[in-house]
Amino acid sequence: MKTMLKKAQRKVVTRICSAYRAISTVAALVISGTPPIRLQIKERARTYGKDEDTKRQEKEETIRKWQREWEDTVEVGQWTKRLIPNVATWTNRKHGNVDYYLTQMLSGHGCFAAHLHKFALIESDICWYCQERDDATHTFLHCIRWTRERTIVETAIGETLSTENITNTMIDSKEGWDDTT
Ligand SMILES: [Zn+2]
Repeated sequence: MKTMLKKAQRKVVTRICSAYRAISTVAALVISGTPPIRLQIKERARTYGKDEDTKRQEKEETIRKWQREWEDTVEVGQWTKRLIPNVATWTNRKHGNVDYYLTQMLSGHGCFAAHLHKFALIESDICWYCQERDDATHTFLHCIRWTRERTIVETAIGETLSTENITNTMIDSKEGWDDTT
């Protein structure tokens, strides 16, 4: 009976989580490492028929513009910006795939009780694993459910995880990425 209930509950939770995918476009682009299409089109116009050197310089210029736009973004994506302040460092990393779960973490939009609660999808914003209010910060930095995983990463990098060092840890090395995700 207990197992059946658990199974049913898991089904509901899974459905809610995959149904909910609202991420602001600006944040989604940064997370996936894709410059806004508007900037890409302008770059193409500037580089049409030009040599490779020019193309590379203009590509860097696109990233600089993108970075300025990202810094000027104030209405949305603040959590993502704390985690990924620099689009170039993030986009030019040599390793690491961003899957569905990592996207949730990086966007702060996902299967967090506080978030689902805000949109009236569930009755309480309390974490399923402990009794704290659940959001991306809670899940990633505080929830007891993930203490083991967190300790592995902290031991590896020799410091306490924070929103400031988490993506650097992932970018710096492949091991760091695999430990974190
Ligand atoms: Zn928790």
